[in-house]
Amino acid sequence: MKTAVISHSDCILHDMGNGHPESPERLRAIEQHFQETCLIQDVVEREAKPVTREQILRAHPESHIEHVLQSSPEQGFFELDPDTRLCPHSVSAANLAAGSIVQATDEIMAGDYQRAFCAVRPPGHHAEADTSMGFCIYNGIAIGACHAIAEHGFERVAILDFDVHHGNGTVDIFKDDPSVLVCSSFQHPFYPYKYFDIERPNIVNTPLESGTKSDHFRRAIERDWLPALLQHQPQMIFVSAGFDAHRDDPLAGLNLVESDYAWVTDLICHAANDYAQGRVVSVLEGGYNPQVSARCALDHVARFLDS
Ligand SMILES: [Zn+2]
Repeated sequence: MKTAVISHSDCILHDMGNGHPESPERLRAIEQHFQETCLIQDVVEREAKPVTREQILRAHPESHIEHVLQSSPEQGFFELDPDTRLCPHSVSAANLAAGSIVQATDEIMAGDYQRAFCAVRPPGHHAEADTSMGFCIYNGIAIGACHAIAEHGFERVAILDFDVHHGNGTVDIFKDDPSVLVCSSFQHPFYPYKYFDIERPNIVNTPLESGTKSDHFRRAIERDWLPALLQHQPQMIFVSAGFDAHRDDPLAGLNLVESDYAWVTDLICHAANDYAQGRVVSVLEGGYNPQVSARCALDHVARFLDS
């Protein structure tokens, strides 16, 4: 399937300070690995365009945008929460990160390609409607899903989140919107300690104990995601692709390996082929061992091409 990789050099300028795990190096490692392995020759490369205020407003209230804009420093840092800082380049990077998902949605619908991986930062899935948190400023995947419904007339979309942390922000935004199925697998108990026990027909939570390995992860995903996807029949699939459930990630305690990301990508692609004419938009969320994340991202995008 024709696949795009969307990125922008300004996403590397977002910097939350020395030693912060959500570092520019994460994106540099992915771009370098895609070049070295020649994967980049097999994909369509696109430069990300910024999101518009109108597009952000579908997922966040005006007050949230104003808070972010007014907090943006001319120099140094501003702390949105203890984990999440703005530097002078952060708002521009956040606009490009969210915009890339909107752009992928539009370009897929224009027939340019069927699948896209947005290699961008900051991540987004912890950002709730009115709260930036957990390294996330705007919830790009939510903005993208809202755009698909508002602009392209979809009645049902799905967001699949295999980051090691629960996608609390995405759940917060769609908890009362049955048109959006949100499936999230996550280490539990673990950050962000929110919405992990919410009960809604369109929210599928898959908590995983610390130490969970491939076999259990795969069984849990098949048990929880496949029936939900069959029932929802999403017309487009969005993916919050965090690679921090890998056993060599420094922040978390699950024990996945590279082949698990190829496996879950195959499962997602098969669902997209069955229900969504192959359409998948994936965005980088977490993953804090840059070299490991780069290998996992490579396997993820390579499966987009083949399955
Ligand atoms: Zn994460």
